[in-house]
Amino acid sequence: MRKIGSRSFLIFILTMAFFAGLAYHTVNLVFHAAEWVAEPMSTFVPESGSLDYAGKVIDRNGVVLAQSVGGKRIYNEDEDVRRACLHVVGDDSVNIGTALQTVWRSQMTKYEFNGSFIFGTGLPEALKNKEDITSYGVDYTLTIDSRLQKAALEALGVNRGAMFFYNYQTGEIVCMVSTPSYDPMNVPEDIETNPDYSGAYINRAVSSAYPPGSTFKLVTANASLNEISGIEKSVFDCQGTEEIDGEKTVSCFGKKAHGKQTMKEALANSCNIYFAKCAKALGKERMTAYAEKMGFNSNVEFDGVISADSVYDVTDASDYELAWSGVGQHTILETPVNMAMRSAAIANGGTPVMPYYIESVDGAAKNKTTLASPMMNRETADKLYEMMDYTAAVSYGKDYLCSYLDVCAKTGTAEVSDDGTAHAWLTGFCKDAECPLAFAVIIEYGNSAQAVAIPAASHVLYKAAEIYKFQ
Ligand SMILES: [Zn+2]
Repeated sequence: MRKIGSRSFLIFILTMAFFAGLAYHTVNLVFHAAEWVAEPMSTFVPESGSLDYAGKVIDRNGVVLAQSVGGKRIYNEDEDVRRACLHVVGDDSVNIGTALQTVWRSQMTKYEFNGSFIFGTGLPEALKNKEDITSYGVDYTLTIDSRLQKAALEALGVNRGAMFFYNYQTGEIVCMVSTPSYDPMNVPEDIETNPDYSGAYINRAVSSAYPPGSTFKLVTANASLNEISGIEKSVFDCQGTEEIDGEKTVSCFGKKAHGKQTMKEALANSCNIYFAKCAKALGKERMTAYAEKMGFNSNVEFDGVISADSVYDVTDASDYELAWSGVGQHTILETPVNMAMRSAAIANGGTPVMPYYIESVDGAAKNKTTLASPMMNRETADKLYEMMDYTAAVSYGKDYLCSYLDVCAKTGTAEVSDDGTAHAWLTGFCKDAECPLAFAVIIEYGNSAQAVAIPAASHVLYKAAEIYKFQ
């Protein structure tokens, strides 16, 4: 029997692999083309004009955020609402990849895919040019509250950043705002060149991942409570600085010694050394396993929106870097939506509900409450709940957060350069039954979470109290 030479065999395998790949992609394209063209950032979605007769976008209270009147797309009459809702609703272009009017455009406009290109079934000829045609397409009702959107835009002001608030019992996203923003009715002519608008197409609440700083101590605490026996009762003496890798030192803020600390006190005082030592004691494998359980090295997907990945990678980290990873530094990155889900998990006995923002499509309910994978067990969730409650009361002041709500929280000030410039975070949840919101707020280069992120979050929390508690 003649043996096939190893070289010709290799060529045979490669040729087969090529055709198998080609067949796979062809089949994939034919069967999934409609989804593929509707993918965020796809350039195959038709340009503006296709929204001319699209359906309405309505907030949770019936406020019309976008509609088509007489063949023209118009947005809410209040410019602040328009700007606040830009990244949720989108504009006439498809530049905002995660916006409703980008992701669901073909459905909203009743555009269809015929196998080779998109064409608009659009408006029947007989109806064209009629002034009273307001919405021929499909209407989308959102869970978003435009009043909270407006409050969040005010709170972010000239800062770049994002706010994400959702109901940790139902999953409804009530507020998702990103800055810089712009008015979709008057898109700035210099949007592509003016640095003030750089990144304006990005919904930072889902598409940006930042170093989480001390908010990550909740992840390290979860791992430590489960893996280091007796840690809760043990006391650590913080000296302000501590040598980790023979020569390098981890330090607490201002190198200030916290003295004797239980875990609860270490979280409230945001003692870096405590959690750095925990991370080092736990090691790479266990830290990675717990981080991944809490959404890292993965994304969040809801209503066709696919978030950026949150990242915890200590593969090549030294002991010193592993230690720093336990306090949310090193190369760790997290999206605001993932951080809000962590607080939701703590508020909800360990398992967060999946967020969503489309309530109904042409009156038919689109979503129902669904649980995500558990992030921690109930016992640990309850301990972290109590610790965040204590942290909010002792370190920030409950009244400083919001006098009308019982807010549990954790700040994060994540250094992003050697000169001490830092992003400012706040994450937390409200204990109040009338206002069960979990949230994450980031102010880029805000430097101080206490001075910048808390007041920003607080502005929205007061509005939420006014709406959900007193109305
Ligand atoms: Zn300390």
